[in-house]
Parts: sequence; structure tokens; C-alpha cells
Amino acid sequence: MSAITNHMPTAELQALDSAHHMHPFTAGNELAEKGARVITRAQGVTLTDSEGNSFLDAMAGLWCVNIGYGRDELAQVAARQMRELPFYNTFFQTTHVPAIALSAKLAELAPGDLNHVFFAGSGSEANDTNIRMVRTYWAMKGKPGKSIIISRKNAYHGSSVGSGSLGGMTYMHEQGGLPIPDIHHINQPHWWAEGGDLSPEEFGLARARELEEAIERLGEDRVAAFIAEPVQGAGGVVIAPQTYWPEIQRICDKYEILLIADEVICGFGRTGNWFGSQTMNIRPDIMTIAKGLSSGYAPIGGSIVSDEIADVIGSGEFNHGYTYSGHPVAAAVALENLRILEEEDIIGHVRNIAAPYLEKAWKGLADHPLVGEARSIGLMGTIALTPDKDSRAAFAGDAGAVGYICRERCFANNLIMRHVGDRMIISPPLVIRPEEIDTLVARATRALDETYAEIQ
Ligand code: PLP
Repeated sequence: MSAITNHMPTAELQALDSAHHMHPFTAGNELAEKGARVITRAQGVTLTDSEGNSFLDAMAGLWCVNIGYGRDELAQVAARQMRELPFYNTFFQTTHVPAIALSAKLAELAPGDLNHVFFAGSGSEANDTNIRMVRTYWAMKGKPGKSIIISRKNAYHGSSVGSGSLGGMTYMHEQGGLPIPDIHHINQPHWWAEGGDLSPEEFGLARARELEEAIERLGEDRVAAFIAEPVQGAGGVVIAPQTYWPEIQRICDKYEILLIADEVICGFGRTGNWFGSQTMNIRPDIMTIAKGLSSGYAPIGGSIVSDEIADVIGSGEFNHGYTYSGHPVAAAVALENLRILEEEDIIGHVRNIAAPYLEKAWKGLADHPLVGEARSIGLMGTIALTPDKDSRAAFAGDAGAVGYICRERCFANNLIMRHVGDRMIISPPLVIRPEEIDTLVARATRALDETYAEIQ
């Protein structure tokens, strides 16, 4: 077979792709029919495809390219580390400098007494670690009955058997026999879709109190932990009402339930602080990290855990680990990414410049006839498409059909914006500049106009 390169005609690449490459979350028949979009290169906030089209990537890849594309420093660090020590494991009392340096740096950045890192290759693996870690923690403390983990409907915590069980997406549970036992889901704090006649504040409290009701129903002696994303990302950028998180923290404290903040999306600047937990003012016992940890330049994830949990788990052997836990190349790349985030004050840029600028422009989209709420927090934004703003109604017919049209209109207008049902969401690279935000919003407006015209 001749070499397969960027220079091959797109149709040939697509044919080979659909013949041999099984894609995540993609219908194989659609892939064969339409072909995949072939992305060939990227720089800053812009992607280029095999046809030479360029797109403003308002999703930062998959919520991960926080420092933007094309930072050569990371390539150089990866090459240097590959030459020096491409791999060694961290099992059986062995370590190496990249894993030492990255765990120490994360302990410095993480809030409170979250001073210990268990590395994984992805967010899914890290959440699998968390399931085993919290259950082992309680067992080692003499409370093996505490094994239930409470999560939320419509949450996304990954795709493995464990993390997919933690997630609350029923269409995922329908495949492969999920969830595993002792995972319990409560309702999400999604006021726009589910708040009915309650005010956002009343609704936030009511939804938080479902955690208390669940603990009382299941038994305090059986519940190990509560896991949640500070802002639910893949569920549609669900920003909880202000009353929600303080009440969740109170309940976790009262019943001694471990709080796991899944920071896979919110971590590393997305909400304008290093971690979403700081933005929400919560004190997790464990934070799940991945994505922005390396800005997606290398696959790496992990769990940052409290002194107390590390002490208990460390009092024996934790029979758990991945070949690539603390992979030296991924760790070195992550460390360089953190250096750039810190030295270039990219999080300050989000907090002081980009997020306020986006918020103002994004809110303006609520004036569009197709848009109900338009909200953002840090550099995550969401708009609800609706046929009736006042009643917050959903479209008749297939949920997501209008969102799909809008997403296609975004592509046609050189913008990558994702749809979750009939919500449109964004999460651009954190380095996005105000003039690029103007372009993003102008293209989104054109896509909305065209969608509106198409569904009349
Ligand atoms: N947790 C959250 C909040 C996520 O958004 C994701 C991925 O989107 C994951 C976990 C899973 O991470 P990964 O895809 O790296 O396994």
C-alpha cells in the first residue's frame, strides 16, 4: 500500500477511514455514506481540513486544547523526553523525574490539602480509579458497607465500564450492561429544562436536597461518595443555580460523604480559576483531571486526592494501576503545558479579558428568535434553542433535530460548535482573543439565522 498522507484526495482518505477505523460516538452507516471530516492541521484557535477549509474551533478539540494549537515548546519537550526516557512504569516502588515533578506541581496548584496524585491515561481511567479508591478507602477505615456512589442524571464521567456507569446518560447505559452495581443517580440542576415554575434559586436547593434524600433513603452507612462536574459539560454546559453547590457541600459534610469533583473539563482554567471547584467554592476530597492537564497534546489523566485519603490508602497496598500511569512523555508534556498556563497568565486572561468579553457578546444571542437562554461561565457557553422562549418549550418531533441543523450550519460558516440535543455549546481554547470571540459570535449568529430560516 502506498503511504497515506495529507496529500491524498479526501475521498480516498474517507474511504479508507470508514473501511478500517471505528469511531467513538459515530454511526458507522452515516460515516460510510457521508465520510468523516478529515482534519489536517491546526494553529491557535483555527483548524484546517483536507479540502483547505478553515474553522474557528469553538470546542478546543474535545474541551481540551486550553493553550491553543501549535505550541512548539510541547513538541520539543516530548521529543527530548522520548530520547532520554521514553517509558518506564511507576509500579513496584519505581518512579521517574517527570512523574515526580508533575505530581509536585499539581499538589502546589490544587486547592486545600489535595496533595497526592494517582495518574491515569485518561479521564475515564481516572474515574475508574476513583470508584476503586473511595470504596477501598472506606473498607480500610473499617466501613466496607460504604460502597454506593451517587452521581447525576445526564452527567458524563467517561466511557469505560466504571466511568460510564458513573455517568448518567441512559443511552450509554443501554449498551454493554451498564451501570455496575452500587451507582445511584439523582436529578441534575438543569433549571432551563427541568425547573418548571420554581425560581432558579428554589430549584437549585430542591435538586441539591435530592442528595440528602438519597443518602437518607440508601443509608449513610452505605454511601461512599458523591461525584459531579462543577459545570456539567457534555450534558449541555449545565450551570447550576447559585444555591446548589453550597447545599451540596453542606450535605457531604453532614453525612461524611466524600465529594469527587470531576474537573476533566472545568480544570486548568476553563472557568477562570485553576479548578472549577474554586469557582464553585467547594472543597472536594478528590478531583478527576485530564484534558486541559496536557491541553490534549498527550493522553494523561489522574486523581488528585486529599492527605486523609492518601494516608489511608497508603497504609496498605492499592492493587490498581495502569501501564501508562505517569507516562514520562505525557507527564513532561503536561508539565510544560502547566508552565505555559502559569507563566503566560492564561487563566488571568480568561478571568479578566476573554470570559467577560464572551459573556457580554454571548448573552446578546438571547435576542435571537430561536434562542431561549444564552449563558456562559468562564470560557464555556451554552444556548438553548426553543420554539417558545417564555414557556422554555422543547421542539416538537425529534429532540436534537434542530440542534443538528444548527451544527451543520456552523460548519458551513467555518465554526465548530457542538450540539447536545437542542442546545448549542462552546468551549474555545483559553487563549482566544476578543477579536476571535467577535468572529465566533458573528458566525454563530449566521448559523442561527440560517437554521431559523430552514425550519420555518
Ligand atoms: N469526565 C468528564 C467531565 C468529561 O467531560 C470526560 C470526557 O469528555 C471524561 C470524564 C472522560 O475523559 P476521557 O475521554 O479522557 O476518558
